[in-house]
Amino acid sequence: MTIPDLDWNNLGFEYRDLPFRYISKWKDGKWDAGTLTEDSTLHVSEASAALHYGQQGFEGLKAYRTKDGSVQLFRPDKNAERLQKTADRLIMPHVETEQFVEACRQVVAANIDWVPPYGSGATLYLRPLLIGVGSVIGVRPAPEYIFTIFAMPVGPYYKGGLKPNNYITAEFDRAAPHGTGANKVGGNYAASILPGQLAHDAGFADCVYLDPATHTKIEEIGGANFFGITADNQFITPLSPSILPSITKYSLLHIAGERFGMETIEGDVPLDGLDKFVEAGACGTAAVISPIGGIQIGDNFHKFYSTEEVGPVTTKLYNELVGIQFGDIEAPEGWIVKV
Ligand SMILES: *Cc1c(COP(=O)(O)O)cnc(C)c1O
Repeated sequence: MTIPDLDWNNLGFEYRDLPFRYISKWKDGKWDAGTLTEDSTLHVSEASAALHYGQQGFEGLKAYRTKDGSVQLFRPDKNAERLQKTADRLIMPHVETEQFVEACRQVVAANIDWVPPYGSGATLYLRPLLIGVGSVIGVRPAPEYIFTIFAMPVGPYYKGGLKPNNYITAEFDRAAPHGTGANKVGGNYAASILPGQLAHDAGFADCVYLDPATHTKIEEIGGANFFGITADNQFITPLSPSILPSITKYSLLHIAGERFGMETIEGDVPLDGLDKFVEAGACGTAAVISPIGGIQIGDNFHKFYSTEEVGPVTTKLYNELVGIQFGDIEAPEGWIVKV
C-alpha cells in the first residue's frame, strides 16, 4: 500500500472512502464469520427497519499513532459494551466484545497507512454501525442485521490548540425521560439536527440540552457530556438516565479522582447553580475536551473561566487524557489495546 498523500496537519472531520472496512451479517440467529471488504456501499432491502423506524445504533472511537510508530486503541471494550446496551434497548443482537475489538483491530491494521503520524494531533476515527435490515414493513425487530466498521483519518478538534466555545440552551429535547437518551442511536441525533442548526445560526458552537422533564438542569452539550470544576477542586458531571454515558467522561472522572486527587461527583447540575463552577467543559471522543467559555440562557450569558483562555484544571485534564491516548503517559490498567 502506498502512503496516502494527505495534509495530516489540516484534516477536518470528513468522511473518506478508505480501502478496507469490516462487515458481518446476522441471519437465522447468528453472525457470519465477518470479513474485510473493499466495498464501501451497503446493499440492503428498501424495507429495512433501520431506514424506517431507526432500529440502529453506532459507536465512535479512535486509533492513535504513538511516538514509537505503533498504533493503539483507547478502551474499545467500553464501546463494545455500550453497543450491547444499545442493542438490548432496541432488541438487536449483541456483537460480543471480542468480535468487536478484533474487528476494530482488523480495520485499523488493513488501513494502517491512514493512521496519521504521531505529533500531527490527528487520529484514525472508527465508526462501528449496527443496523436492522431485511424485508419487514411492520414495526418489530428486523429479521437480519449488519454490523460494519469503517474508518477515516480526522484532525484534532482544535487545530491551533484548545480554545473555549460558547453554547446556548435548547428549547428542544434530544431524548425523552424514559426514552433512548442513554443509547447511542441515530434517533437522538435526528432530534438534534434542528436545535443544533438553530444554535449555529445564532452564532454558538452547539446547544445545551436540558433535562427533558423540567428544563432546569444541564444534561448534554450537543453530542458531548458536560463537566464543571469548582473552586474547591470538585469535578462535577450530570447524572441522568437520558444522558449518553460518555467513555471520555468516565475516563476523566477516573483521572480527576485517582491522579489529581479531586472530589468527583455525578449529580444534578441546575442552571441556577452554575456560579459555583470556575471552569467547565464538554467531553467526548470527537471533541476530547472542549472548554466552555459560556452558556447563553435566555437573556443571560453565563461565563465560566474565560471566553478566550482555557482554565488550568481543564488544561491539566486534557493533557493527561491525550497523553494517555497517544501513549506518552502511562495508562490505567486495561485502557490501551495495541493493534
Ligand atoms: C458519543 C456521545 C458522547 C461521547 O461519548 P464518548 O464515549 O466519550 O465518545 C456524548 N454524548 C452523546 C449524545 C454521544 O452520542
